[in-house]
Amino acid sequence: MFNPRTAYDVGFDAIAIKDFADYKDEYVVRPPYQRKSVWSRKKQQALLDSLFRRYYIPRIVIRLVRLDEERTVKEVIDGQQRITTAQDFLTDELALPNTLKDVYPSLPGKTYSKLSADVRKFVDKELKYNADIVKGIEDPRNPQHQSVAADIFWRLQQGEDLTYMEKAHARLSSLSRNFVVKYADDITFDYEKYTPVDSNKDKHKFFTVIDRGNDRMQHLAILTRFLILEQANGPANIQDGDVTDYIDKYQVADGIGNLSFEKQAHAKSVLHNMNALYEVFKDDPMRDDSNGAIKELRIEYFILSVYLLLRHLATHYVWGQAEKKLFHDFVIAFHQRWKKKSEDDRDIVAFSDSRQQTSNEVEARHRIIRQLFFEFAKEKGVKIIVKDSRRAFSEADRILIYRRDNGLCQACIKAGKPEPDCRVSWSEYEADHVLPHSKGGQTDVENAQLLCRTHNRKLGAKN
Ligand SMILES: [Zn+2]
Repeated sequence: MFNPRTAYDVGFDAIAIKDFADYKDEYVVRPPYQRKSVWSRKKQQALLDSLFRRYYIPRIVIRLVRLDEERTVKEVIDGQQRITTAQDFLTDELALPNTLKDVYPSLPGKTYSKLSADVRKFVDKELKYNADIVKGIEDPRNPQHQSVAADIFWRLQQGEDLTYMEKAHARLSSLSRNFVVKYADDITFDYEKYTPVDSNKDKHKFFTVIDRGNDRMQHLAILTRFLILEQANGPANIQDGDVTDYIDKYQVADGIGNLSFEKQAHAKSVLHNMNALYEVFKDDPMRDDSNGAIKELRIEYFILSVYLLLRHLATHYVWGQAEKKLFHDFVIAFHQRWKKKSEDDRDIVAFSDSRQQTSNEVEARHRIIRQLFFEFAKEKGVKIIVKDSRRAFSEADRILIYRRDNGLCQACIKAGKPEPDCRVSWSEYEADHVLPHSKGGQTDVENAQLLCRTHNRKLGAKN
């Protein structure tokens, strides 16, 4: 007999809706692979209408999750809204709809506690949701079990209109997904307690300066695109399919709840550059309550180009207060010019015509915005200084510097110490940039001095 092994068992149950309120803690209504979605009041009341008419309600899907030897919780794979609607009704946060008027004239507008005893008894005893109970994949620490659960969810959602990012978000075992969720999602999940957390304190402050919502996970999509650009060290294909591929390719067996992705060099660079962008805009007058968004930073392809420009400048040029101010003013001015949409402004027309996220169009936009930035800097009379790509002094330079400075710490001499105390041995000495490297100081003998370790650390901390 052909009878393949199943990945899990499914049992059946009918659960009184009252249980969802009475034993609220038993239900994990939003598992880690689910987005948070809120039904409109109208939709909630339509469900109450169906319930009271005893119409068919689609089955909910629940997975038993074992926390330890004694305790389990019920993870809601499908039915989040049906359960929260029942909870809202039973806790008097939701009243019965007017649509019930024709069948039960006394019910519309009533909350649960205002119902007569016999109606309440009907609610308590008779109103139930049919449920499919998934068993045999109970262990939340077992990646196999977790990915089967996420897969059941994912398959149930195929008929729904999930965005590419919402689908990618369900890839619990992807390390890049976990990074993106940690820094761009509004909500999070505590795997230790196996419970959803409604506010994510790790969300990056960069997202407070952009005027772009996150209701369909747009922030997660932006962060993923930043990661791809950073990994490619510049323009790359960042279309929707590239975003899902990037999440998929980092799936690993022990990926669930795993945050090791932060150690990746390109992930660190993204955080670094998002901090830099935040620094540029954080004091803008538009941020009235220090949380308001910059209205210019709304369209995704514009934000992506601004990001690429910043990382280019901060990598290759001196990036100090003056440069940040210039960059800020440039973005505002560029946005004005872009929004004017003058047909004679060929650079702007070309920029707007390259709004797609293919490597070619990202590159085209990057070329235009870069060129316009340098024109803007020239106009404002600000000199943009190239950083010396070489940061460390060569061995030959180090020998010259040691001989020229006679093996004496130049800072100790300045401090007036007697010469014998200024002496530094070859193995202890450090070659220091007189004009700091970060401010455009060249890595050559003319811009170098011999320092003892103590002074090098002190001076280094100042820059
Ligand atoms: Zn010294």
